[in-house]
Amino acid sequence: MKKIIIRKTEEMENWRRNINSEINFIPTMGNLHNGHIKLISTAKKDNSNANLVSIFINPLQFDNKIDLENYPKTIDNDIKISFANGADAIFIPSIEDIYPPNNENIKFLKAPLELSSSLCGLNRIGHFDGVCTVVYRLLSLINPKNLYLGEKDWQQLLILKNLVLTKKLNIAIKSIPTQRDFDGIPLSSRNVHLSKKERKLIRFFSNELLEAKKIFQQEKKFCLTEILKKLSAEKISIEYLEHLHPHTLQKAKSEDNISLLAGAIRCGETRLIDHVFLMKRKPIIAIDGPAGSGKSTVTKLIAKKLKLLYLDTGAMYRALSWLLIKENIDYTKEKILQNILKNISIVFKSNDNSHQDVFINNNCVTKEIRSQEISSIVSKISSIKEVRKFLVEEQRKIGESGGLVAEGRDIGTTVFPYAELKIFLTASIDERAKRRKSDKNSKDSQNIELDTLKELIKKRDFEDSNREISPLVKANDAIEIITDKYSIDEVVDKIIDLYNDKIPKDTQI
Ligand code: C5P
Repeated sequence: MKKIIIRKTEEMENWRRNINSEINFIPTMGNLHNGHIKLISTAKKDNSNANLVSIFINPLQFDNKIDLENYPKTIDNDIKISFANGADAIFIPSIEDIYPPNNENIKFLKAPLELSSSLCGLNRIGHFDGVCTVVYRLLSLINPKNLYLGEKDWQQLLILKNLVLTKKLNIAIKSIPTQRDFDGIPLSSRNVHLSKKERKLIRFFSNELLEAKKIFQQEKKFCLTEILKKLSAEKISIEYLEHLHPHTLQKAKSEDNISLLAGAIRCGETRLIDHVFLMKRKPIIAIDGPAGSGKSTVTKLIAKKLKLLYLDTGAMYRALSWLLIKENIDYTKEKILQNILKNISIVFKSNDNSHQDVFINNNCVTKEIRSQEISSIVSKISSIKEVRKFLVEEQRKIGESGGLVAEGRDIGTTVFPYAELKIFLTASIDERAKRRKSDKNSKDSQNIELDTLKELIKKRDFEDSNREISPLVKANDAIEIITDKYSIDEVVDKIIDLYNDKIPKDTQI
């Protein structure tokens, strides 16, 4: 692709009309550093779309004239850096191009108060309105497929996600974690203004936040006033330091698994922001849904892509059913069942094919549990109170420190009701029966007539959805995905996008 610099909005519209690929858009205000380079190179690595970097110092988002005048301008170097790291086009419009005088088509937007009135919005009046206005103007001109933004400006990221949502733009926001300099301070175009002494102060501030994150990981608590005291002792001028919910920006609650510790300080004329995420345990994804909805395939792929542990709870119910049948145990008798459950051990182990084997009391039952004999009895056994109590406890033990994606029927409602992301996967009976018939792991299903399979699935659906304890239902906060029309990869990508939207990238590294 020919590399091009675009300066006028008409040229931009022209380029946009003639390019026959989707666009990754990386908006910047110039003076590019390694944070911007990471954004551009991530976009390049992600897909084969055209990468467009914009360089525009937006006057609307400056509440301070001197700050605007002093904003570092290094355009020649920015052009070199952008092209060298994967930009195909660079848009460098003038102020008149973005805000033509007397142009009534420009929409001056207001950022939502619930996200913009706290933190940086407290002292930077109109800042986020200016950000929304310019980004919306640029998005309308460019119409990109993906918008790349850094998590460093977390509040801005939330506000722009909200903009894309409320304006119903068909644009995916891709974020990258905060990029830090060798001494721990977040990279920022404004860092060039820092004197040696000021840099030392911001280093102290950032290191306090990073230390709080480390301590929180071990002790699950931290002391905000302690940090404030330490900063004051260093004579650091604090604008704010807040502990908040990472998405609503409301005060953090003790039950929040991930919270945001965000602060802004003033060093001379320069104002610097930094934040960390405090996390009690690693995230959990809960995927529930009926038989044949594609849960297993999708869940395994997500585990692999996101490097999470894969937990197939259905396999645990199946393994237990296998043992009860093999040993001819009268599981309808409470006492007998309770005694048996005392001595059950179910473990998953990776096998040579990078899949998991299921062991119950040291018997490898991976294949056997997929037989029609087990499929037809497992719902009955899994509706027994003692069975559910025992297996839910086992599952919670496995998920204690998080970092897993679990599939089943009651994961989002009962096993991990506090999971960060809950998905309810379904498909029509016809589609699910077709999938079961072609399931290589279930030789029995391949030999059954499609209509019979449909009836068997309906029966299992009914039993799972109508049992007394933890029936199969969609959790209130689960996102339903009907998979009939989607390929496996499309479903996986959808769920990974939802995960990335909820879980800051900074907590994933
Ligand atoms: O997902 P799979 O088809 O392997 O699950 C087998 C059965 O195990 C389900 O039909 C259901 O009766 C039971 N099960 C359950 N709760 C779970 C997972 C599976 O009751 N969390």
